[in-house]
Amino acid sequence: MNRQLKFKALYENKLHDVYGISFPELTVKIPLERFPFIQDVKADELIQFIDKADVNGSEIFEGDYDNDGNCVVWCNNCNSWQFAKLDVPTKDICIPCHACDGNFFFDEHIHEFKTVGNRFI
Ligand SMILES: [Zn+2]
Repeated sequence: MNRQLKFKALYENKLHDVYGISFPELTVKIPLERFPFIQDVKADELIQFIDKADVNGSEIFEGDYDNDGNCVVWCNNCNSWQFAKLDVPTKDICIPCHACDGNFFFDEHIHEFKTVGNRFI
């Protein structure tokens, strides 16, 4: 498998690196600043690395959005990562998938994507 599998966990309103995931309960191992430096928690959200970098070289994760409110989502209909339209002030998705709407496709725009935030934080 050439694809990098990587996740971040939303826990106590912060995104943390994930060192391990237990199935099927989906508890995750995240860093802790004191001994034993790792803790198992039930995350509020698990977000997935999409195996791409933005124009600044930062890794792109599910829920990342740019200045235009284009937000990375998994579309079950397209069976691929796509852009949704995010209402940035409320962090609500107002258009679930631009590709399904016939607007534009992820692959045509991901190379110019610049992350400014993530909708989960
Ligand atoms: Zn779609």
